[in-house]
Amino acid sequence: MDYPTLLRIGGDWRGADDGATFTVGEPATGAAIAEVPRAGAGECRAAIIAASAAQPAWRDETAQGRGMVCHAIAERLIAAREALARLRAREGGTPLATALVEVDYAAGFFRFYGDEIVHLTGRAIAHPDPRRSLRVDYAPVGVVGAITPWNLPLAAPAKKLAAAIAAGCAVVLKPSELTPLSALALAREAELAGLPPGVLNVVCGDAAAIGGELTAHPAVRLIAFTGSTRIGRQLMAACAPGLKHVALELGGSAPFLVFADADLERAADDLATLKTTNAGQVCVTANRVLVERVVHDRFVALLVERLRRVRVGDPLDAATTMGPLISGEAAERVAGLVDGALAQGAIAALSGPRRDRFFAPTVLTGCGNDWPIARAEIFGPVAPVIGFDDEAHAVALANDTPYGLAAFAYTRDPGRQHRLARALDAGVIGINDPRPLIPSAPFGGVKQSGIGREGGSEGLLEYLDTRLIGVRD
Ligand code: NAP
Repeated sequence: MDYPTLLRIGGDWRGADDGATFTVGEPATGAAIAEVPRAGAGECRAAIIAASAAQPAWRDETAQGRGMVCHAIAERLIAAREALARLRAREGGTPLATALVEVDYAAGFFRFYGDEIVHLTGRAIAHPDPRRSLRVDYAPVGVVGAITPWNLPLAAPAKKLAAAIAAGCAVVLKPSELTPLSALALAREAELAGLPPGVLNVVCGDAAAIGGELTAHPAVRLIAFTGSTRIGRQLMAACAPGLKHVALELGGSAPFLVFADADLERAADDLATLKTTNAGQVCVTANRVLVERVVHDRFVALLVERLRRVRVGDPLDAATTMGPLISGEAAERVAGLVDGALAQGAIAALSGPRRDRFFAPTVLTGCGNDWPIARAEIFGPVAPVIGFDDEAHAVALANDTPYGLAAFAYTRDPGRQHRLARALDAGVIGINDPRPLIPSAPFGGVKQSGIGREGGSEGLLEYLDTRLIGVRD
């Protein structure tokens, strides 16, 4: 199917008021793949008005009715998975096999919330006065402004939309200007699945103008954002005057701890996968590799051996296991972090040619936890390795970051597994598990990695107000 490359406002697919457009390019080649209308505050306001008009009827639709639409969207996404994966691979540069996993993951959220909303129950609270009753129930928060990043162009919108739509909220979605096509395709599939006009609106374009309108407009009750901590902080401040709810999925600097008693081969396999999936441009990827000194050299050798096998290239080629970074600026930023670490004394255990946006897997040893490469979110296939002496030292290094999205630890010692689960400051902790993420599980960060959760029953509650209802005879 050819998906629309227009704004979706109410029941219309349309251009920008002034006819302005922007070009979506393919990271692998730099070639233009689409022209998309460039929306600003005016188009965003029209989308908020359309969402507000659709909100009451969607709220009053039964939970079963909303759940059925969510399931219909999931079925359509799966039926179109090849086309969607190809689009996602082209605009984001991720290899087809990974893009297919993202389509399935996105569909999983619609399935999960399609079921979850039907099973949502309030509760009765016993009142000491027999003439009175109390019950707790849930109502949709209202119109949601959803803002999503380029690194998960399908899954990031899907997580928010599935929960919001199931809960009974109408949404204005702003995907990243770098990768709007997957979100527009998702909106088209949702339309064809029977989602009423106005329940999902998509505006792409001027981020600051759209963000300004979404945060200022009184009809918008929740800003659901996935992106950098810097922009998340700005949006939260902009929401303060109107006391809007915020749900923020922000950046991370996940530590990957390898203890001497770990299955080193498995840890190296998992780390190589984390560092190369989407070329390391994933919020929960391992950012800092902390290795117990006694196994340091052996583990680095195992990691290098695996990363040497990575095939960097065209994301549409089935042999490719890692595509390009999203843009030339992104590649320059990652190169700057690597060059900075080398200048500070790091040793390159593995590096390779840098060609345009293509960045070879890189392993740097002898890094410091306070160096820029360890403090920043690298967002590239680069593993800075830092040695540690014992468990207490490892935990101190792991937690020494303002972020708290994910943490990984590899150890066979059951006691240590429990101690680490308590001691690591992160919203998601994987012990010998590189990806404890499925739609039915709550995902989100602590500290400066976010507020709120996506996935699981917790993710649905972000889109619902809890109400207490008292009735007296
Ligand atoms: P970003 O620069 O913060 O952008 C995220 C979204 O915000 C994009 O749609 C962007 O639009 C928009 N935006 C930019 N400035 C804005 C403004 N002033 N007002 C309103 N919206 C604005 O992040 P990114 O570079 O796209 O994504 C990478 C970041 O996302 C990383 O930090 C990563 O860790 C984080 N992330 C977190 C999770 C999670 O679940 N915790 C998941 C994925 C990614 P334009 O792109 O059109 O400028």
